[in-house]
Amino acid sequence: MARLVLKFGGTSVADIDRIRNVARHVKREVDAGHQVAVVVSAMSGKTNELVGWCTQASPLHDAREYDAVVASGEQVTAGLLAITLQNMGVNARSWQGWQVPIRTDGAHGAARIQEIDGSEIVRRFGDGQVAVIAGFQGVAPDNRVATLGRGGSDTSAVAVAAALKADRCDIYTDVDGVYTTDPRIEPKARRMARVSFEEMLEMASLGAKVLQVRSVELAMVHKVRTFVRSSFEDPDAPGMGDFLNPPGTLICDEDEIVEQQVVTGIAYAKDEAQISLRRVEDRPGVAAAIFGPLADAGVNVDMIVQNVSEDGTRTDMTFTVPAGDLAKATQAIEDAKAEMRFDVVQSERGLTKVSVIGIGMRSHTGVAATAFKALAGRGINIRAITTSEIKISILIDGEYTELAVRTLHSVYGLDKA
Ligand code: ADP
Ligand code: ASP
Ligand code: MG
Repeated sequence: MARLVLKFGGTSVADIDRIRNVARHVKREVDAGHQVAVVVSAMSGKTNELVGWCTQASPLHDAREYDAVVASGEQVTAGLLAITLQNMGVNARSWQGWQVPIRTDGAHGAARIQEIDGSEIVRRFGDGQVAVIAGFQGVAPDNRVATLGRGGSDTSAVAVAAALKADRCDIYTDVDGVYTTDPRIEPKARRMARVSFEEMLEMASLGAKVLQVRSVELAMVHKVRTFVRSSFEDPDAPGMGDFLNPPGTLICDEDEIVEQQVVTGIAYAKDEAQISLRRVEDRPGVAAAIFGPLADAGVNVDMIVQNVSEDGTRTDMTFTVPAGDLAKATQAIEDAKAEMRFDVVQSERGLTKVSVIGIGMRSHTGVAATAFKALAGRGINIRAITTSEIKISILIDGEYTELAVRTLHSVYGLDKA
């Protein structure tokens, strides 16, 4: 007997038929004698709708009330899955975040899980009960519901698995594993049997939304054996209940990967915006004067490029923010214009950041040059570049997203035969 956490994302629970299919996956594991906790997302499209309603009610709104609204999607799914399981003869009970409880910090809208008390759930495992837990939510120190940021049910699942000391955490989604790039953009993408925590962290933070970044961090820190797999396969097909090697992608330590590639994947993040401050005074403290107020305003600044000034007095500062943060950023710049000391501010939306990721870059040279050459060959202009030990990120015009992803995927030999 083992203890498993199974997480099902939005498309996997999009309607009652799909919830029934999910229940069959759960029942298979219960029938095999395992103790099972399930974490569910809202039905596909629901969270977007709820977020949209908050914005319609008021473009700027209270984060606590946003949480009260958007957390409701997961509550519905948890109840529906519990009903469906009960109807199939499985002893199941739904749990909202506060009932477990899943305690978070006070950052409403983007809260972090601090502590999970799984004792009551474990006690009920003893009675053969399955826990169906609403993902994406917990309870903040002010005793109010808090949500974990978009895609947060992945994090709920891994955190629950760590708290319950589960043997495995299965993230069921609408693709059958982690691919070398988004298989919806590049049909030649290959499914990876294993991917290292470090590479998965980079892929997730650079736009591959198959796992929320925080869930990968938690899996790495708490050594949770995490698989990404498909909910759309027949729950009773051969191998689906394999305990050690379930179908899907295992997220694991680097040294568990036998065949290491130089480049393992390509990720992209659409909807980036670029802001340029022209003729900024070139003096000590200028970066702090610019990025301090932006940080205070909660703007997520990403790539930063500062030109070397020609005459030592003025320079240009260019940086990117998610397009959704552009209004907030522009306001913060306007408010702090006197301290920022620039002449003109320019901004542009509709950009994409494409990233090449691979641990092998630590020991191989020329990886960046290959990307630049390949993009040049397609006539794609590069607006900004940032690099770290295991990734290269390139900012381009959004209209070239698909072309850039496919070009890079192919030039590093990632296309399937
Ligand atoms: P869920 O609702 O199950 O949480 P998401 O939509 O959040 O699912 O994540 C799954 C999606 O992630 C896939 O449908 C796929 O389009 C996208 N994706 C992006 N990059 C990758 C990748 N490298 N491997 C697999 N899927 C990816
Ligand atoms: N329903 C939430 C979202 O759409 C959380 C999740 O699905 O992981 O962001
Ligand atoms: Mg998701």
